[in-house]
Amino acid sequence: MGPQRMYGLTPWVRRLLVANLLVFLLQKTVFLQLAAELGFAPLQALTHPWTLVTYMFVHGGVAHLAFNLLALYVFGPPVEERMGGRAFIGYYLVCGVGGAALSYLLMLVVPVRMVIGASGAILGMALAFAWYWPDEPIFIFPFPAPIPAKWLVTFAVGPYEIHKDIAKEDNGKELPIEFYSMPGGRAVIKEDFILAEMNNSVRFFSKMFGEYPYPLFRGVYHPFNFGQGFPTTIMIPAADRASYRTYSFIAHETSHQWWGDMVLWRSYRDQWLSEGFAEYSGMLYVQLRDKTSSEKELIQRARDELKMPPGTLTGIGHGRLVDVGPLVMGHRVESRETRGAYTALTYEKGALVLRMLHFLFTDPQTGDGKAFFDLMSDFVRRYKDSTATTEQFFAVANEHLKNTPLAQKYGYKDLNWFYRQWATQTYLPSYELSYHIEADTTGGVILKGELLQKGIPEGETWFMPLPLLLHFHGGKVSRGTLAVLGTHTPISIKLPQLPEKVELDPELWILSDKTSTTKQ
Ligand SMILES: [Zn+2]
Repeated sequence: MGPQRMYGLTPWVRRLLVANLLVFLLQKTVFLQLAAELGFAPLQALTHPWTLVTYMFVHGGVAHLAFNLLALYVFGPPVEERMGGRAFIGYYLVCGVGGAALSYLLMLVVPVRMVIGASGAILGMALAFAWYWPDEPIFIFPFPAPIPAKWLVTFAVGPYEIHKDIAKEDNGKELPIEFYSMPGGRAVIKEDFILAEMNNSVRFFSKMFGEYPYPLFRGVYHPFNFGQGFPTTIMIPAADRASYRTYSFIAHETSHQWWGDMVLWRSYRDQWLSEGFAEYSGMLYVQLRDKTSSEKELIQRARDELKMPPGTLTGIGHGRLVDVGPLVMGHRVESRETRGAYTALTYEKGALVLRMLHFLFTDPQTGDGKAFFDLMSDFVRRYKDSTATTEQFFAVANEHLKNTPLAQKYGYKDLNWFYRQWATQTYLPSYELSYHIEADTTGGVILKGELLQKGIPEGETWFMPLPLLLHFHGGKVSRGTLAVLGTHTPISIKLPQLPEKVELDPELWILSDKTSTTKQ
């Protein structure tokens, strides 16, 4: 158990609030010189060492005090609960002392006579909050949309050295690329490698999702084991092993320039528009960079993650992550009893759901996916520099659907069925094609059998087209699709000759628990 709350406040947050209010009251009534006595004057630190701590309890005015206490009230309790009381107050004071120390740095630029206020300590606490809950949306008046916590309190300071490159786009445009690295082997990182990956991926996504809109693309090394994307700038850890995981990681962060920076999700229901889209962008880049087998491995890993049990505070829970909640629940699927659900669903399932849309917009015979990328770049064009919802994305998709070969073949006019199944429901189907070959009296053969869809409860009728691959003698391959509706769909296909091998969805386009083909 963490510290107990009272009126929503944890013990140390309560004490800090009272202390700050009390000091302010005394400052304004009895001891009018208190700020001068307790404030931190950098040039008198040796003779007044106590001011390193006391300065953070005096404030300049009501607005100064109110702003700090509001931040303490919002960020303090969850951070204290997470850290524990003693660690929390220790950390708070250390940040405050650190704030005083920073005033020496500030003095290099402007003269600093005295600093007062809890801002240093409060900033430290807000940083801790963003560290623990980077994607927690925060509403700030007067902004209309929530802002993820990490965007509010991120900065990087270091003796960076800048490595440069230029991305030459197909239209002749040149985009400067920079990577801020650490000098002298402080970071074991191959700058050329990172620059090349940033260069390749920003050009790839410019082509696929619409032109990169900023005048510069920058990467910054940071020592923690995660990435982060801001408009024009991504933060990356030492990730330079030449493997498909690194390629997809850097590409994921790069694609956030489109998914998250150009088009921001509107609410937690739409988070997959950033993270799922970025994750799938990473997979697409890997396919280009490292051929299909690596992409397949990434897809398989994402599927496996969905079937893992959730974590709990004390160990491993029951069931599967995929059953915790639907895609549109975003970070709300994550709890003490369902750890890992947010990444599994928003990142991995989000990516695989977008991949299914990629399939629905692809010509199954030729493999041409231009319609999919037209949809994606149109979505960016319409919602650039604003927020978008899942419904708005599907509205754009519906407009693009008309001329796709699959919509024409199966006669669906919109993707409402797809949205219902994959965005609002949690089922994970299995597909099984069982078939035999019969001779056709008019020549050729008939592939006969049925396509089973399991894992969907009775009363639900799911529809899905799946790719079918037929191998014939002499290495000839024929591509087509089969659609399933409900649990049993009978199959009968005329073929010119006997197939050597029949495969249902060998490239893992359609998300399933298991997809198999059996010959009877
Ligand atoms: Zn991301």
